[in-house]
Amino acid sequence: MRSLKDKKMGPPPEPSEAGPVGRGGRNEAGAVPAATRQGRSRAEFLPTICRYCGGVIKLIPAKMVYGESTRRLGMEGEYLYQCQNCNARVGCHKGTTRPLGNVANEVLRLKRMEAHRVFDALWKSGRMTRTGAYRWLAGELHLRPDRAHIGGFEMDQCQKVIELCEKTNNEEAA
Ligand SMILES: [Zn+2]
Repeated sequence: MRSLKDKKMGPPPEPSEAGPVGRGGRNEAGAVPAATRQGRSRAEFLPTICRYCGGVIKLIPAKMVYGESTRRLGMEGEYLYQCQNCNARVGCHKGTTRPLGNVANEVLRLKRMEAHRVFDALWKSGRMTRTGAYRWLAGELHLRPDRAHIGGFEMDQCQKVIELCEKTNNEEAA
């Protein structure tokens, strides 16, 4: 685990609205250092500076956020990246400190949860296996299967998941 301790910076600017989410889901509002992104997909870079407020992002145990609910949420022993200023956060790949994507503010977190709910309902209905559903999703979104983690998706990708799942539901019903 990499310590982010000595990355102290001055007081972050006032929290502001998230910047525009461009096509392709990139949100360039934050000051993500170019070097952090270069040559990597957005699912791979380590968030260190919050894209919403410029605050410092730290790797923290999930229980610091979820407390008593950690076990129920299946997050025991897991880690999160969290902005120390505005609480934007993102989870990690199970059992690792590799972030699923960029940090999310509350609006994006709710969108990710909604997309996950719709997607899980699809494979839980028995139409597809869970693995099959992830493979299908990755194909539809042109992502490598190991990148198809809704917990790291941007607004537009979440919306796409919701639309794809609804479309599939309707096709089956017809
Ligand atoms: Zn922040």
